[in-house]
Amino acid sequence: MRKLLSIRWILLGMAFLAIVGLTGMNVYSLYALHESTVKATADAQKNQLADFSYTVRNRFRPPVESIWRLNMEQLHADISTTHQLPEQLADVLVQASKDPIFEEIYFAFPDYESCSTGNEIKRFDVDSKKLVEASDFPEYVCDGFGLTRSRMNVLINDYRFNTKVVFDTHRSMTVALINPRGNVVVAYIAFVIDTNFLISDFLAPQLVEVFGSREQSGMTVWLHDWVRNEVLAVNDDDVEYNRRNIQYIQRFPDLLDNWNLKVIFDKDTAALAAQTALVRNLIVLSGGVLLLIGSLLVMFIISQRERSLVDRQAGFIANVTHELKTPLAVMQAAGENLADGRVKDPERLKTYGQHIHNESLRLRSMIEKLLDVARSDAGQHQIKPSTCNIVDLIESYLIENKSLIAGNNFEPHVEIEENIPQVFIDKDSFATILSNLVENAMKYSSDEKYLSIRVKTNDKMVALEVEDRGHGIPPKAQKYIFDKFYRVEDPLTARTKGHGLGLSIVKTHVLLNGGKIDVKSNYRKGSIFSVQFPMQKVSENAAKISLNPESKVEYAN
Ligand code: ADP
Repeated sequence: MRKLLSIRWILLGMAFLAIVGLTGMNVYSLYALHESTVKATADAQKNQLADFSYTVRNRFRPPVESIWRLNMEQLHADISTTHQLPEQLADVLVQASKDPIFEEIYFAFPDYESCSTGNEIKRFDVDSKKLVEASDFPEYVCDGFGLTRSRMNVLINDYRFNTKVVFDTHRSMTVALINPRGNVVVAYIAFVIDTNFLISDFLAPQLVEVFGSREQSGMTVWLHDWVRNEVLAVNDDDVEYNRRNIQYIQRFPDLLDNWNLKVIFDKDTAALAAQTALVRNLIVLSGGVLLLIGSLLVMFIISQRERSLVDRQAGFIANVTHELKTPLAVMQAAGENLADGRVKDPERLKTYGQHIHNESLRLRSMIEKLLDVARSDAGQHQIKPSTCNIVDLIESYLIENKSLIAGNNFEPHVEIEENIPQVFIDKDSFATILSNLVENAMKYSSDEKYLSIRVKTNDKMVALEVEDRGHGIPPKAQKYIFDKFYRVEDPLTARTKGHGLGLSIVKTHVLLNGGKIDVKSNYRKGSIFSVQFPMQKVSENAAKISLNPESKVEYAN
């Protein structure tokens, strides 16, 4: 049995582990799915931002693209000999100057060192296609040339291309023309950027075109001048810029250094849907798991109970066999002695007669109990309720059992309220209930032989109370005492004979008669069993009842 029990625990443990494992796996995969959706969305949005920065860079390429295709060796030779702007280059600059993104074009020969050394900066005049003196030019043109020159001084020996483009923030774009043969700078050309055009006619519309509104793209993108802390453009005017809410910054590599894109991501619909699905699945999953664990526990408890019932039944059969044999043996021995005619003494004759009488009573009570339980198990209990007065029934019980009670050294205290109404119950059932409760009160008594029987009314019910000051019942055992074959595991109970059937029979009869039963007990101080029946006025016609004790009472005429 022990082995079976431990197998049961192992199986239960394994079932729990399986549930926990499966649930964990499920939750993890749901979470991973949610995370990957969120990550994929974030990645896609960041790629879009990076793409945008390349779009901006590419905006500067077309107007000057044809420069890349010029023959730098030829140009170098022409410029070195004539110190003039070669025609093919002049044509390219004419093309470039048509693009509104550039304001002016300035030119410097390779010997350019700095703006302060003389009149080395020329302006490209579109109309004449010639370089003209540039007396008045913005200071940042010098910055652009200076920046490009120092960059080339460092790079030139390892440089393999024929041009190098250098941006001075958003102000100018300077192109160094390089003769790869011999690695020498051929000339510098500075394109002054029209910042207003760049912002208003290109960047601002592009932001709206690429990212749409915040609702469309799931993000708000500001073009921000971080040096001056100024917002230059935004894809959605409805969102107010707040530095603290910014979640991501996209720079423009190598150009527009003072500017960047500041971004706030909204939770996109896919991520939101994934999150909702995750939460919904978690709720359903937890409900399912709780249900599964609950059913497992209930099944386990039921099987434990069944097992203990089987144990108790097995103990009962062993016990009852012994109990049936003992009175029979006593009666057999006494009967033999009487039959032999060896006993002549009237006193001994009386004793033998009493033995036989008492043992036959015990035998009868036991057989009645067994039959009662068998009937209850088979759902064949039949009761004949009638209108009766509990007080009368108690009185006749006390008269019939006077010697039994007195023989146990008890003197019952009977307290009966006035005007107790009648109840509609089966008299035999009541006798069974009362006798079991009184016998238990006496059986489980201690030195104080106290027995109280009370009858009172209580909220449309007539209540019978049987109180003793005996062993009492431990709190944990109280809910089991009405179970079949249950006996309290207690040294005090162990000393008393019994089979754990009395109270289950009492409960069956109480329920059959539409009543209820309750117990209040203080361990080692005593117990009060209380049985209540409805004080209803029902037709006095006898009714036959045939039902399972657990089910509702049904009356059949
Ligand atoms: P039995 O008395 O034959 O064992 P019962 O069904 O009448 O079976 O009672 C079940 C158990 O309830 C008893 O074994 C006993 O431990 C406990 N019990 C019943 N009545 C009392 C009582 N009046 N005082 C203390 N314990 C009681």
